[in-house]
Amino acid sequence: MADRDGKIWMDGELVEWRDAKIHVLTHTLHYGCGAFEGVRAYNTQNGTAIFRLQEHTDRLFNSAKILRMQMPFTKEQVNEAQKQVVRANKLESCYIRPLTWIGSQKLGVSPKGNRIHLMVAAWAWGAYLGEEGLKKGIRVKTSSYTRHHVNITMTQAKAVSNYSNSILANMEALDDGYDEALLLDSSGFVSEGAGENIFVIKDGVIYTPDLSAGALNGITRNTVFHIAKDLGLEIIQKRITRDEIYIADEAFFTGTAAEVTPIRELDRVQIGAGARGPVTERIQSAFFDIVNGRNPKYAHWLTKV
Ligand code: PMP
Repeated sequence: MADRDGKIWMDGELVEWRDAKIHVLTHTLHYGCGAFEGVRAYNTQNGTAIFRLQEHTDRLFNSAKILRMQMPFTKEQVNEAQKQVVRANKLESCYIRPLTWIGSQKLGVSPKGNRIHLMVAAWAWGAYLGEEGLKKGIRVKTSSYTRHHVNITMTQAKAVSNYSNSILANMEALDDGYDEALLLDSSGFVSEGAGENIFVIKDGVIYTPDLSAGALNGITRNTVFHIAKDLGLEIIQKRITRDEIYIADEAFFTGTAAEVTPIRELDRVQIGAGARGPVTERIQSAFFDIVNGRNPKYAHWLTKV
C-alpha cells in the first residue's frame, strides 16, 4: 500500500504517496495514542460527494479532545483536506482516512513536548464485508475478547489504541472461519462488532445497544435512526444479550466501511431465515439511496468534492 502513485495530505500539504513517511520514534507508534476517522465518498448522480463529512470531522475533533490532543488545524481545514485528497487522486467513490498522531520529538509516556500531526489519505475500497455479504448476510462469532470498559481507553473516541482489541477479535473470528467478530461488554451484554455497530430486529421492532455498552457512536448508526423514523419503524436502545440475537428475526451491522451488512448467523446459530431479512433490506436500500444522492431529503449530508 505504501509504494504507489497518488497524493496524501500531510500537515497542510499534498505529498507524493510514497513519500508520506514518519519516523520510527513516533510517539503514537510506541504508545498508541492517536485518533482517526473512516469516511466514504460516493459517486452520486451529481458527482462525487463525501457522506456526512462534517459529522466525521466533528467526531475526529471530539476523539482528539478526549485524548487531550490539540488539533493543529481547524475543522474547515480538515474538511477541505478531505475534499482535496479525493480530487487529487481522481477518485469517484472511495474511503477516506484522516488520522491524527503524536510526533517524534520525544518518547516517554507523557506526550508533552511533541508536535501533533494530521494526515488524510483516500483510496478505492469496495464492500468491506464483501459484495456477497451485503446480499446474503455474514457469519459472526461472539468474541472471547471483551470490548473496552467505558473507563479504560475511552470508547467514544475513535482512538488508535482501541483497535488492538478489534484486531484480536477480528483475527480470532476469521481464524475460526467466520466473517466478523461480535464483542460483549465487560458485563456480558452485546456491545458492537470489531468495526461496526449492531442492530437486531424482533417482531418488527429494531433494537441496538445503548452507548454505555462501550460501542462507538457510529455515524451510520445515526443514519439508520433517521431511516427507521422515515420508514415508521421503532428503534429501542437497550442492553442486549447474545441469546436475544440467536432468537431475533434479523440482525445487521452498520459502519462507514461495512455500510449496512446483514448478519445471517451468530455462533453457528441461524438468525431468522438465515438470509437478509425484509426489514434489513428496506433499511439497506434506503441507506444506499441516501449515500448515492437519490433521496433529496438528505442532500445536505452529501458534500461535493
Ligand atoms: N464501531 C467501531 C469499533 C468502528 O470502528 C466503527 C467504524 N468507524 C463503527 C462502530 C461504526 O461507525 P461509523 O458508522 O461512524 O463508521
